[in-house]
Amino acid sequence: MASAAHRRNMQRIIFLFLAILAMVAVIVFATYSSGPSKGSSTQWLSSDNHLQLFYKNSDSREWELLDLTNNSTSYSSFISAVLSDVTADLATHRGISQDEAADLLQNENYRIYTTLDPELQTVIEEIYIDFDDSTISATDQQHIQSGITMLDPKTGHILAMVGSLGKNNNSTINYARELRQPGTAITPLTSYAPAIEFGEINPATIIDEYSIADTLSTPRTVNDGIRNSIQSIDIHILRSVGLKESFDFATNNLGLPLDPADQNITALGNGKLYSGVSTEDMAAAYAVFANHGVYNNPKTYLWVEDSAGEILLEKPVSSYVAMKESTAYLMTKMLQDVVYNGTGGTAQFEGMSIAGKTGTTEDNFDRYFVGFSPYYVAAVWVGYPQNEYIDYSFNPASILWKQVMQAVHSDLPYTEFMYSRDGIITIEICRDSGMLCSQQCHEDPRGDRKMLVEVTEGTEPTTICNFHSSALN
Ligand SMILES: [Zn+2]
Repeated sequence: MASAAHRRNMQRIIFLFLAILAMVAVIVFATYSSGPSKGSSTQWLSSDNHLQLFYKNSDSREWELLDLTNNSTSYSSFISAVLSDVTADLATHRGISQDEAADLLQNENYRIYTTLDPELQTVIEEIYIDFDDSTISATDQQHIQSGITMLDPKTGHILAMVGSLGKNNNSTINYARELRQPGTAITPLTSYAPAIEFGEINPATIIDEYSIADTLSTPRTVNDGIRNSIQSIDIHILRSVGLKESFDFATNNLGLPLDPADQNITALGNGKLYSGVSTEDMAAAYAVFANHGVYNNPKTYLWVEDSAGEILLEKPVSSYVAMKESTAYLMTKMLQDVVYNGTGGTAQFEGMSIAGKTGTTEDNFDRYFVGFSPYYVAAVWVGYPQNEYIDYSFNPASILWKQVMQAVHSDLPYTEFMYSRDGIITIEICRDSGMLCSQQCHEDPRGDRKMLVEVTEGTEPTTICNFHSSALN
């Protein structure tokens, strides 16, 4: 929590810093130039030309200087994030204060090699500016807000980040990095993935102990639970994992900055956390499913050079196996089902394999969607600056996610999710009981009740269906 709170404070300092410098730059610019002033918060970067930001051109694979003067967009959320990260890392690396580090960044001719993809950033900024938020009205005139982080699941490189929503937005807060409540978007990370990883369940496991309120038809499987966001199934699975084990898995394996006070059902099962998580944290954690079980720490830059080209700072890379590939595979399959047959329907679009999960807090103050394709992972939070009920017929986070993901994939070739099936077996079970088929299951008057499912070896049922044998005997 200390580091998360610290990071949030740093972001605010950096934002303030940018805003003040922007004002100075605008005044200087307006005084000495007769040309039009854009007044963007990043103008100081180009007007005094001390600090240079580079990005890797995705076509030429060459590093290019980020042009902050001739763009229709400002990149401001990403830039505030990268400056915040470099300032903090420079301070730690040199053993100096944050202020001294910020001073160096301002006055030395440093070059920062960022992970930004300006094309993606521009596409997302335009969608965020154009989003029609007039239908989401707060009682006390609050402006609905949103933040999104998009990263490359193979590297953890943050390709784009947008932290405010709408045209008339005066927010100085980067909502992509604010700690907010993920709601039920956390359950794949705290409940389902660790339970599959530890061999407690497979997607076809029947959960008997769900509440009557959640009963649409019986029986209900693990896959039904995640697909339809059935809270009693989420919680039953969480209990089978154990609160401490779930907490350890989410923090150690998936990098979520949870507070020790989060070792309870409300936090790990309902996603109502002590402090919260950012869209960056959620994108990095879900990226593990897309990246075959390997976690990469999210990053906004790779290294920083001085004007002579000497490397002053390198971003530490943290990459490790967070779960078995078979777990990532089964999770991805279930999260695809969420989009195509469950609560994530509004995120669905044609032309690309996608998977993801909605999130809603019980008080409906926060709406979330985190999802991925083989190319990108993106996490979207929507809510008000001050907590207030979101009165909207759909999940606005899934709608934004869909608009963004559809746009950024429009020119990319269709790709399936590809995983190794090591440790995965296909078995035949009875669709009514989830147990191994008996002859009676095949001879059910409604037709053969057998169903083929993929499970991790060792989690398959071992008993013969008692639903059919007891009904017919
Ligand atoms: Zn049966």
